Amino acid sequence: MKRYNMLLVEDAQARILARTTPTPIEEVPLLEALGRPVARDLASDIDISPFANSAMDGFAVHAADLEGASRERPVDLEVVAHIGAGSVYDGPVEPGQAVRIMTGAPMPAACDSVVKIEDIAVTAGDGSVGSRVAFYAPTKLGSNVRPAGQEAQAGQTVMHAGDVVDSAGVGLLASCGHATVPVHTRPRVGIIATGSELVDITEKPGPGKIRNSNSSALAAQALEAGAIPTIYPAAPDDHDLILATVRKAVAENDFVASSGGASNGDYDFITQAVAELGELIFDRVNMRPGKCQTFGVVEGTPVLGLAGNPAAAFLGFEVLIRPALRKMQGFTQLARPVTWATLAQPISSHEKRREYLRGRVERTEDGGYTAVSFKNQSSALIGTMHQANCLLVIPEGPQDLAAGDKIRCLRIDQAEGVQ
Ligand code: AMP
Ligand code: MG
Repeated sequence: MKRYNMLLVEDAQARILARTTPTPIEEVPLLEALGRPVARDLASDIDISPFANSAMDGFAVHAADLEGASRERPVDLEVVAHIGAGSVYDGPVEPGQAVRIMTGAPMPAACDSVVKIEDIAVTAGDGSVGSRVAFYAPTKLGSNVRPAGQEAQAGQTVMHAGDVVDSAGVGLLASCGHATVPVHTRPRVGIIATGSELVDITEKPGPGKIRNSNSSALAAQALEAGAIPTIYPAAPDDHDLILATVRKAVAENDFVASSGGASNGDYDFITQAVAELGELIFDRVNMRPGKCQTFGVVEGTPVLGLAGNPAAAFLGFEVLIRPALRKMQGFTQLARPVTWATLAQPISSHEKRREYLRGRVERTEDGGYTAVSFKNQSSALIGTMHQANCLLVIPEGPQDLAAGDKIRCLRIDQAEGVQ
């Protein structure tokens, strides 16, 4: 069948993003919004705090009463009320009087300042109503008083659409009365594996067979990207069976990821399936591993046919699918952080494609970074992806990099927007 031109990775990403739209909005219990972007601007329904209150355990006073107070000439006040957080005193406080007040209790309207308990002495009684207390210094007007509406005012937007709810955000939304939060539904991702050689994890593979590891790895990547994966039974390399699986998966999901059968071997059917069932958008990406990646839209659902080799499939998901799943959830940060590091070894490559080498980037003592690439970059190996914390990005075209050269490392160990 006709082969399309090879796309630059960024072009492939852009074409996928162009065909993915945010999922519908749902209201979820506050804690279920943790780690997800809010789908709409969210405001507070009240002033927070709704009232001015004391920042200290102490005494609410008129600052004017304490003018001129000193160690030698203390000012003595009469305690006329005693309030803790949750209770209100709205009676009079005349000159010469004070209110014993605890942290968080509303300021009596008649007082303007709070002196903390450590700075006074009880001169008569137990310090509660009817006692007398001595003050040894003047106090600043408004001292230790937290004004109303300091955190937010009623109607004020406290979180904007796209802001990710972290644990402090959960606290903020709780104080603003949001027991539930609007978020985009988690995208449902159908995972298809193609290959007559594949057997289930629970089986010991017979002659010529291997375990289907891609479906599990891709489902895990979908979970990490905030999506809900469904693994379909592996389809043997049969045109009709693959078509039927794709048809079922697109009907039941927001995105479909398949692995295997994406190149032009005798038994590779996924590109043909996408072309027959819907619109084929590209089938080659200028990357290594994983040149053969098919993308199209079937019945309105994006379908990405990843390469079959485990490291290639994993990389394809990371680079092409993960950003799309994030966009669908309303994340604004779609790209993993990049660390520029000093290459620890020379790398020469005759490859025309952009290479993503599994390796590790580490901090050096001088605060820089150094990167090493693993020796065996076979796309059949998934263990080296497990050991990697980054992908060293070798630009398109032949390269002769020396030890000490600077190299871009894609941080697959760090969340988008971290740097
Ligand atoms: P393909 O792209 O179908 O030619 O597959 C390329 C290589 O990846 C072959 O060695 C396949 O056996 C292997 N492979 C394909 N699908 C899977 C899978 N689901 N799990 C593990 N290996 C796979
Ligand atoms: Mg195959």
